[in-house]
Amino acid sequence: MKPQRGKNSKKKGEVDPVEVYCRVRPLDNPDDNCCVKPLSTTVVQLIPPENSLAVARNGQIKEYQFTFQYVFDEYTSQKAVFDYVACPLVDDLLRGKNGLLFTYGITSSGKTYTMTGSPKDQGVLPRCLDVLFNSISGVQAKKYVFKSDKMNGFEVQSEADAMMERQKRDIMPGITTPKTPTTHRRGNFGDQERISDPTILSSVDDDNQYAVFVSYIEIYNNYVYDLLEELPYDPITGYKPPQTKILRTDSSDCMYVMNCVEVEITSPEEAFEVLFKGQKRRKVAHTALNAESSRSHSIFNIRLVQAPLDPRGEEVLQDPDKICVSQLSLVDLAGSERTHRTKNAGDRLKEAGNINQSLMALRNCIEILRDNQKNSSNKMVPYRDSKLTHLFKNYFDGEGKVRMIVCVNPKGDEFDETIHVMKFAELSQEVLIARQQQVRFDIGLTPGRRKMNYKEKFKSEDDLCTAPKVPAFDFSLGPGFPPFELLRSSDDIVLPQLEKFLVERQKRREALQLDLDRQNDEFRAQLVEFERNYEQAIVQNDELQQRVEKSESYIQDKEVKIRQEKSEKERLRNDFKTRLDINNQHWERNLEKERQKIEQDYGGQIWEKQHKLNMLRNIVNEGDSDAMPAPQETFRTPAPKTRTHTTPGKLLSARSENDMRKIGNTPTPRSRTATTGTSLSAARANLKPTPRSTSNSNTPKPTPAYNPRHRRSRSSNAEIWLDHRPQGNVELDTVLQPKIKKKKSVSKLEGECLPTAGGGTAVVFNDVETLTQTSPGSRKRRSSCPQPQDFEGDWTDVEDRCNVAMEGHGNARNINHPYKKYQTTSTFSLKPLVGATLALKALLNSRSSLPLASDDVMTYTPLPGRWYPHSL
Ligand code: ADP
Ligand code: MG
Repeated sequence: MKPQRGKNSKKKGEVDPVEVYCRVRPLDNPDDNCCVKPLSTTVVQLIPPENSLAVARNGQIKEYQFTFQYVFDEYTSQKAVFDYVACPLVDDLLRGKNGLLFTYGITSSGKTYTMTGSPKDQGVLPRCLDVLFNSISGVQAKKYVFKSDKMNGFEVQSEADAMMERQKRDIMPGITTPKTPTTHRRGNFGDQERISDPTILSSVDDDNQYAVFVSYIEIYNNYVYDLLEELPYDPITGYKPPQTKILRTDSSDCMYVMNCVEVEITSPEEAFEVLFKGQKRRKVAHTALNAESSRSHSIFNIRLVQAPLDPRGEEVLQDPDKICVSQLSLVDLAGSERTHRTKNAGDRLKEAGNINQSLMALRNCIEILRDNQKNSSNKMVPYRDSKLTHLFKNYFDGEGKVRMIVCVNPKGDEFDETIHVMKFAELSQEVLIARQQQVRFDIGLTPGRRKMNYKEKFKSEDDLCTAPKVPAFDFSLGPGFPPFELLRSSDDIVLPQLEKFLVERQKRREALQLDLDRQNDEFRAQLVEFERNYEQAIVQNDELQQRVEKSESYIQDKEVKIRQEKSEKERLRNDFKTRLDINNQHWERNLEKERQKIEQDYGGQIWEKQHKLNMLRNIVNEGDSDAMPAPQETFRTPAPKTRTHTTPGKLLSARSENDMRKIGNTPTPRSRTATTGTSLSAARANLKPTPRSTSNSNTPKPTPAYNPRHRRSRSSNAEIWLDHRPQGNVELDTVLQPKIKKKKSVSKLEGECLPTAGGGTAVVFNDVETLTQTSPGSRKRRSSCPQPQDFEGDWTDVEDRCNVAMEGHGNARNINHPYKKYQTTSTFSLKPLVGATLALKALLNSRSSLPLASDDVMTYTPLPGRWYPHSL
């Protein structure tokens, strides 16, 4: 069905010549010299004016006669030109054939007038559109049923899809180019009323659907521009120049302008909108010859797409092979005048040059085509020399009819240009173009589908309208009885007539009865069917209702379960919380009990240790006189332990071995070294106290070796040289000092008694036998005194200092845990005690007084609950 384009030129006998028509326009001024004279409907005569170049030197005037397909004189109407030249092309278009119509001539010869005309006297183009739409009215496809495939072809989409696209474009009108004309412009030709052409062509296939697409291009300076393309607008520079388009070949070897805007139109008015829009854009250059003269070739393409209806006659058959596209190209060529006559210069000259060049290319092509056909030669036709010939190459190759209207301005001044035009036009007629094959629309489907469909639709609509009415059943038993009056018994006319009538009536009755029975049966069958359906529906309905009920109850059950689960979860959470609290409390109680138990245990152990210690003391003191009783612990009641700041270095009265080493020495470590020397004087010198001037006022004074003012017992001659035991119970915060009864001889004790600076005697041991006992754990012993001068912290271990005071040793430090306190106490070290005892014995032996500082305060302040829980 698709036209076989470009394939027919080789077939002999099926060729048509290029048909050239001549139209002579009237003179602008009747007084002007006229050089054109139509001699007949086919012949026109050109008579050169006297000033023409064609006049021979001898003054002879040579007349030229040109023969064309038809010559329209100046009185010929637009309608006549259209009917004769363009209407057959529209007819071909409807039949699926292509057509090309040129208007050719010099500037101001009437080309644009012939092509476009005026609203009141329309030219070829609007009439083509009028006639086209008049003809396809009723068989026109709805918009967007046919859709461009962007490659010069078309596709069919369903009416539903087309409707969707229509709605989409209604919502977004920017997509359509141009917009559907508004109603106030309908029927107008621009702003003026137009008189449309009423012709209707009958070459439309009723079983086809048609759609019209138009495009509008121009060729200017041998560049192709799309006149319907939206130009980008810049507020400063204005409209940007249009982009040139390129020519392409489609799948059928047809030339087309790539990416050219093609608009589907459903009425001539829409087409005019497109035309006017394009004309606005058209580059119209004004030359000295004609202010309206166009310097470009404008091409208005009308493409008619048609496709057969489906077998039901409702929608377009969606088969791309069944789509037929035909094209009518209406070309308004630029003026063919020579350059020098237009007084062109610069750009205009270039334009004119290009115009002539493309027209020359057209001439060349036509001449070579003619030569090839005449001489059976095969010279290559230079279509590509210009865009104009390249674009229409297919037409000359046999793609459709080519027609040309040569417009002639009869003015004498135009003779020299006109003669060239006429010569070329006449020559063009000799070119034969292969006739396009008749497109066969018969695709095997029943003709008249649309009408049938329409009738059925109409009928069904009518039936619907008349449905409530009683059907017009014919229950008549026939005509009435014939006259059956018997004139005589042997009447052999009436009786047979009557008999015949009755037989007829009987037959009719029987037929009616049969029909009635049949209809009854049918009705009964329908009724039964209906009843069965109804019962089925009831059953289904019941089933559905049951399912709904089940589902509802199921949902309710689930909801109840969810609620139960939630409440159970909440209950469990609360229960767990309660249990956890109880458990915690229980554990705390247990821990407290355990703690108390451990405290008691350790307290007992401590007491036991203390007891042993006391016994040990007694043993140690056994050697002494009976005046030396065992130290008695006076603290019975544990009292809150208050922290007391005592000056570091005060606890010098009873010291460990290390401390004793320092007694009599300066606090510097050097002193020990000095005392171990052999020189007594040197040792004495070392025992001199540090001059006061060197000590800082803020730092504690260096502890003197002893202070005789505070001595409360004699140390030089008495057996008991220290006795600080209080009478009875002592109050808390009582100052305690050890009570050492008797000296104890130590066999291996070597030392020297040195007088101290304060007037006393210091004992320097050279060799002391010591008893050691390893304390468990890793407790550090802290040197009790002297403390560093920058010491500013609390003296927290009063009990330790008291221990020192009482027992001659410092206790373990850094005890924070209450249980460790007991441990510390229980791991009592004998070493300092022995050391202190030895020191004392040495003193006794040497009849020296024990160096005790006057401010040696031993504060013994137990902490509540931390000091020995059982009374010592
Ligand atoms: P072209 O397009 O060839 O340059 P136009 O079509 O613009 O020339 O015609 C120039 C002028 O001549 C226009 O004003 C037009 O109205 C007038 N004209 C041309 N042909 C005719 C005609 N056949 N009848 C009346 N006026 C015409
Ligand atoms: Mg023109």
